[in-house]
Amino acid sequence: MKRLRIAIQKSGRLSENSRNLLKECGIKLTNGAGVLKTSAGNFPADILFLRDDDIPRYVEQQVADIGILGENVVYEKNMDVDILEKLGFANCRLSLAIPREVEFTGPDYFNNKRIATSHPGLLSEYLSANNISARIEKLSGSVEIAPGIGLADAICDIVSSGSTLDTNGLQEVITILNSQAVIIGNKNLDDEKRAILSKLLFRIKAVKRSNENKYILLNAPKSAVDQICSILPGIKSPTVLPLAEKGWCSLHSVVREDDFWERIDLLRKAGAEGILVIPIEKMIL
Ligand code: ATP
Ligand code: MG
Repeated sequence: MKRLRIAIQKSGRLSENSRNLLKECGIKLTNGAGVLKTSAGNFPADILFLRDDDIPRYVEQQVADIGILGENVVYEKNMDVDILEKLGFANCRLSLAIPREVEFTGPDYFNNKRIATSHPGLLSEYLSANNISARIEKLSGSVEIAPGIGLADAICDIVSSGSTLDTNGLQEVITILNSQAVIIGNKNLDDEKRAILSKLLFRIKAVKRSNENKYILLNAPKSAVDQICSILPGIKSPTVLPLAEKGWCSLHSVVREDDFWERIDLLRKAGAEGILVIPIEKMIL
């Protein structure tokens, strides 16, 4: 039987989340430091540990069948691969930043400036789409120090909290791209590999959903059930069970993590008591 070759980042910001995702999908990886390839014991997959920059080319050439990496690198490398699923981690953006003391006058500010970046492809696309003529200084890392040492007037780099920019006396002025981790796939997978891939994607979706949702249990007087049901949309409708105490019931449902606190406030106002919120291990629809 064939095995799906999955490329993940060897070490860096994506590696821990990528390994955890595979683990949560029931794919156990056993590897020691320095190992470049390992086989999953309980799923037809081999894992390759690579630099993230190399993953798009390896997937295009089918050295790996699929890979996990940031969208920024996928678009930067511009290889002929499919984006199969967004993964919701490694959220960041690619932005232009200039020294804090400089007044920003709009995109034209960058005309005739030198911009340091390790994303020359995305930057030059942005510059030509906006008719800006600037010089790109290509660096492979530590881009944020370039203005301070006189190598560039501005930078185009990955930002998440903005604290690295701040430490280096820079201000973020334009966002070029929002990015998160994604799975990319080779375009010519045969049927056998596609079958393994669809099994994996099914599991990934279940894991993603479970991370985005919580299971909620609460007690409420029967008179409040209708109002509470309208606050708790759930997957279908909430489960309502009678309690031993007359006139009371217990409601069970699923709430989204992102508006979870808002819902809790509404539920309490509607008369809910004894609210329990439980993480969901897997969520299969
Ligand atoms: P490699 O050695 O594999 O080439 P790298 O140094 O190029 O690694 P990392 O810094 O590990 O890359 O970042 C990997 C990806 O994580 C980036 O391409 C981006 O998508 C995302 N990322 C980078 N910085 C942040 C951040 N501060 N917060 C969230 N995500 C980030
Ligand atoms: Mg890299």
